[in-house]
Amino acid sequence: MYSLYIHIPFCRRACHYCDFHFSTTLKRKEEMVNALCKELILRKDEAINSELQTVYLGGGTPSILSYDELQQLFHTIFTYYKVSPSAEITLEANPDDFFRATSPEQFLKQLRSLAINRLSLGVQSFFEEDLRLMNRVHTVSQVETLLQIAPQYFNNITIDLIYGIPRMSEERWQENINKALSFDIPHISAYALTVEEKTALHKFIATRKIPPINDDQAYTHFQILIDTLEKEGFIQYEFSNFGKEGFFSRNNTAYWFGKPYMGIGPSAHSFNGKERSWNIAHNIKYIQQIQQEILPQEKEELTLNNRYNELIITRIRTMVGIDLEEVKTFFGEDYNQYLLQQAQKYLADELLEIEENHLKVTRKGKFLSDGIASDLFRVDDLI
Ligand code: SF4
Repeated sequence: MYSLYIHIPFCRRACHYCDFHFSTTLKRKEEMVNALCKELILRKDEAINSELQTVYLGGGTPSILSYDELQQLFHTIFTYYKVSPSAEITLEANPDDFFRATSPEQFLKQLRSLAINRLSLGVQSFFEEDLRLMNRVHTVSQVETLLQIAPQYFNNITIDLIYGIPRMSEERWQENINKALSFDIPHISAYALTVEEKTALHKFIATRKIPPINDDQAYTHFQILIDTLEKEGFIQYEFSNFGKEGFFSRNNTAYWFGKPYMGIGPSAHSFNGKERSWNIAHNIKYIQQIQQEILPQEKEELTLNNRYNELIITRIRTMVGIDLEEVKTFFGEDYNQYLLQQAQKYLADELLEIEENHLKVTRKGKFLSDGIASDLFRVDDLI
């Protein structure tokens, strides 16, 4: 096992665009932490021969846990798993949680004492209007204060930003990026706002309370993002991820490059190299089953096509691209020929290019990566 992911399925408030698994009722938090620890123990043998290289607490909102609850989790991890001394250990955090603790400095100090060495902050925007539209719980002034003090405790900080928000002008997006850069953080993840079914955003757009997402606007924002961050020395090592040299996310890179990972907690996914499994996305059922020592999992053996398609969708979004030699070695000449044949029209339109035997999207093709990837997929085992 290369990576360990723990899903903390609680949030203080439901962001209008979010379809992840979480509950805004916190009353089972303590039971949940006990269950997460128990799942870690029940599954310890899956990682018996490995040293974890990355540990990632995501969600949901991991910073919603108290210091004691986080300590309980890390104690379990370090007792039952081998963690590499140089492991990347990330905690996703919402800025407001630092202001609920005794003091933001105190909470930062506590997180650092738990072996966490990378902080991922859900900033999303430096404009109050955007935060309110998305129903984020934090404020701009909280983010600004936090970003001024957090580097005293963590040198590896990443922030999330969202672009393509209705009514967000190009100037406002540019200001957002400039503001982020003013804090001198080494990594930024930026995502286009997407409208998922069953979210409040979906409903607001359907009832015309909010204008629909404009793809052209999102495309322009994406270009501004790349131009600005590249000028500042950031490398776009994946479609949504920009880092300074030495600060690329090792956890995400491992996932894109097919390394095995173990997901603990409701809705968390795991991959052992051959099989994918996922936990039930229901907090109470998850706790009940774990208490009875039953793993609330479903499993799926991956076919060759599944694995090929996964390689295509993850690699095409990275700066490395799809290694044609690897496709030939792992999947055979037939798959390689199929891939090159499907890629022809995109190569002709300069949306894809081949560089040192790697198939990559060009700058022109970047925004269309997902659509291009689906054309490179193989679905002949489904027919
Ligand atoms: S804090 Fe994150 S996980 Fe929770 S609702 Fe908002 S976007 Fe979703």
